[in-house]
Amino acid sequence: MKENVRVRFAPSPTGYLHVGGARTALYNWLFARHHGGTFILRIEDTDPERSTEESAGAIMEGLSWLGLDWDEGPYRQAERLALYRESAERLLREGKAYCCVCTPEELEERRKVSLAAGLPPKYDGRCRDQRAIEGRPFAIRFRMEGIGKTIIEDLVHGRVEFDDAELEDFVLLRSDGTPTYNFAVVIDDVLMEITHVIRGDDHLSNTPKQIKLYEGLGFPLPRFAHLPMILGPDKSRLSKRHGATSVQAYRDLGYLPEAMINYLVRLGWSHGDQEIFSKEELVRYFTLEKVGKTPAVFDPAKLLWLNGHYIKQAEAKRLTELLFPFWEEAGVGQEELQKKETGWLEGVVRMYQERAKTLRELAESSKVLLEVPIEMDPEATKLLSSEARTRLQTLRPRLEALAEFTAEALETLARGFAAEQGAKLVEIAQPLRVVLTGRTVSPPIFVIMEFLGRERCLRRLKDVLGP
Ligand code: GLU
Repeated sequence: MKENVRVRFAPSPTGYLHVGGARTALYNWLFARHHGGTFILRIEDTDPERSTEESAGAIMEGLSWLGLDWDEGPYRQAERLALYRESAERLLREGKAYCCVCTPEELEERRKVSLAAGLPPKYDGRCRDQRAIEGRPFAIRFRMEGIGKTIIEDLVHGRVEFDDAELEDFVLLRSDGTPTYNFAVVIDDVLMEITHVIRGDDHLSNTPKQIKLYEGLGFPLPRFAHLPMILGPDKSRLSKRHGATSVQAYRDLGYLPEAMINYLVRLGWSHGDQEIFSKEELVRYFTLEKVGKTPAVFDPAKLLWLNGHYIKQAEAKRLTELLFPFWEEAGVGQEELQKKETGWLEGVVRMYQERAKTLRELAESSKVLLEVPIEMDPEATKLLSSEARTRLQTLRPRLEALAEFTAEALETLARGFAAEQGAKLVEIAQPLRVVLTGRTVSPPIFVIMEFLGRERCLRRLKDVLGP
């Protein structure tokens, strides 16, 4: 019988969607789609001090931007407290858990004593025989037998063994009634019938505790797949120190979601030496067997390269829509943009998309064709020698008189003019580019001139060269 795959992404809403979380979500999503299974979103918001609604919203927005749609949820753990309590009470009744009245201060004190004596700072089991407590706050702790070994047959790391003596009696429910991560995660994974738990390997050491809970509750184990960490270029764990780490930050810098997806998937997974993947290909090829055990190193240069690739490939219509906020950021006024015909804007984008690596860059380079005061690149200004200026002054009336202001006609005119001046075409074209765009590089200048139109070209020549 074919197994009905059910996986989940279970973020704690304590910040934006980070690169590591996004990759975990992506692998779960791909695994679900590859197997025709179900991808579930569960918000792990049982810590009221650190969880915020804003962060839950930002995480969902990040997932939607990446196109990682979920089939069930978002479930919220904060709305499921009664379920956790019910299971904790059952474990209590069955003698698999107990009531602990030790206060945080007492626990901290004993922890210090243990550490000072060179002992592991485990809970000492002082409350182990208490099944019920009246009139005092208490936590519910899980009773560990502490003998033998717990074995994880991890789909990424292979067989991993933990010595049970290392496992302490951990808290299931805090005295305020909220569940701990290890408890809530197991109850939910059971109730949501999760078949594969795919998450970061920073959780590997939690897994033996969770396995003990499955056993205590009498539920079958899911399969586990722990994904290797993502490191910064200096090989320390990826963090803000390494620059942008949230998915939204990349969106705002002008990255496309498909570039992000393509980049994230390769952080720990490969398919031969293929680098560029469509989403359909990823769904077809993705398996956990191809996930490596070693940490992946985050490489912003590769992400940028991929983004350039996808910008080059993207439809100009879509890029144009995405560019509006970036043009505004680059100083192009809303009204100016509204005045332009969409088809014209798309033409501009088509000319510039070849060379841009981000939407921000694309907006910067293409804005010279929009009504903005052109800032002259000092390097470009150097090219405007007095000889070049004189030539352009001579060319001006011919531009005015040109019958049709098309790229082709402009080029023919410039070639004839260059020959007449005993100059090379580039000696005419380059100063023209400098005057019209303020820069030394641009798409073909005669195409640009056609786009700008006769009137704007002449006005610009007058502004720069004088009357
Ligand atoms: N809320 C946990 C986290 O964000 C989820 C871990 C898990 O997937 O079990 O790390």
